[in-house]
Amino acid sequence: MDHFNYQHHALYAEGVCLKEIIEKVGSPCYVYSAATLTRHYQVFDAAFTDQPHKICYAVKANSNLAVLNLLASLGAGFDVVSQGELMRVIAAGGDPTQVVFSGVGKRPDEIAFALKHNIYCFNVESLAELDCIQQIAHHLNVRAPIALRINPDIDAKSHPYVVTGLKESKFGIAYEDAISAYKKASNLANIQIRGLDYHIGSQLVELSPFIEAIHRMNELILKLQSLGITLQHLDIGGGLGVVYQKETPPLPDEYARAILKNCPYQDLTLIIEPGRAIAANAGILITQVLYLKESAHKNFCIVDAGMNDLLRPALYSAWQEIIPIERLNEQEAIIYDVVGPVCESGDFLGKNRVLAIKQGDYLAVRSAGAYGFVMSSNYNTRPRIAEVMVKDKQYKIVRERETIEHLYRNEHIW
Ligand SMILES: *Cc1c(COP(=O)(O)O)cnc(C)c1O
Repeated sequence: MDHFNYQHHALYAEGVCLKEIIEKVGSPCYVYSAATLTRHYQVFDAAFTDQPHKICYAVKANSNLAVLNLLASLGAGFDVVSQGELMRVIAAGGDPTQVVFSGVGKRPDEIAFALKHNIYCFNVESLAELDCIQQIAHHLNVRAPIALRINPDIDAKSHPYVVTGLKESKFGIAYEDAISAYKKASNLANIQIRGLDYHIGSQLVELSPFIEAIHRMNELILKLQSLGITLQHLDIGGGLGVVYQKETPPLPDEYARAILKNCPYQDLTLIIEPGRAIAANAGILITQVLYLKESAHKNFCIVDAGMNDLLRPALYSAWQEIIPIERLNEQEAIIYDVVGPVCESGDFLGKNRVLAIKQGDYLAVRSAGAYGFVMSSNYNTRPRIAEVMVKDKQYKIVRERETIEHLYRNEHIW
């Protein structure tokens, strides 16, 4: 469920007509719905009430300060993958003591920064990283809270670029090495073991991989207990899929019930790291039709947003719904490839879309709230576009459109 709906002919975000935003902000731009973000977070949080738990929103899905601030105000913790994301959380008013720090390549200075800000936990992805954290913690005379990220070797059955739990994946410590890694961690003076962590992939639309993974972790927890290593938490990662087209992912409630049913450790705090499930359907990308190019073979709808603004279609052949901002149906509906201005044949937002449009019309690409703006770039020297947040009948620009001068102000002529 989201809050982007037509009222008569016009598409609205909550109580704001998108036409009004376009007139003020221009095109292209991202628009986020605060009510949708709030609802998604609260549904997720409520689904886990039967067990001590913490929702650590995965910042990489959408890291705009207004999004983080809203989620922090609802009580969210955060999963970050860089010092930059941690600084965003702090700048947005989030609590660093509610942050878990994931990622295979944390730099020593990032580790030191996170330790100085008292984060809740490092999700450690290799023994070499564990040694590095030990050294830095020793130097700072603190104990570093850690969980080991264990790779459960589970096929998440998602796109190969977003599957992270197979043994050939770069993420985490191999399952068979988990016990020895914990033994090692338990002998390091400046390491404090807090939990066990895994994350098997993104846009998962079935429960079975989640259930398989938690079973594998249950076995590990039992073995660790027998060695006298007790855990405060189990971090089950993110990855719950959303509806882009005709997918039928489990609802957060079904997902939570499946997890809770298969988690025998009732005192263990569960940490969940949803990103997409919170943000994807809380955002749209607005773009304007620049030109229609029709021929006997193919019709192109050329729009002012490209792969540099929304990469998912080009990167994963991802399908996102494209709908008109005004549904007047004055034109004949025909089939278009909706393409951007970037000089790459891979630059498309949607293929074979039936649209009744004319030059100058505006379109909305739906489900663009996660892995949208955050993956945008300046390729083709295109300024990154504005982000807007709607709350009920009001809206605010939460990131200004970049100017072209912004793009080369740090460059120098020799
Ligand atoms: C990307 C990521 C997430 C969030 O994944 P979603 O599919 O957006 O829920 C959570 N945890 C880790 C470690 C990640 O890398």
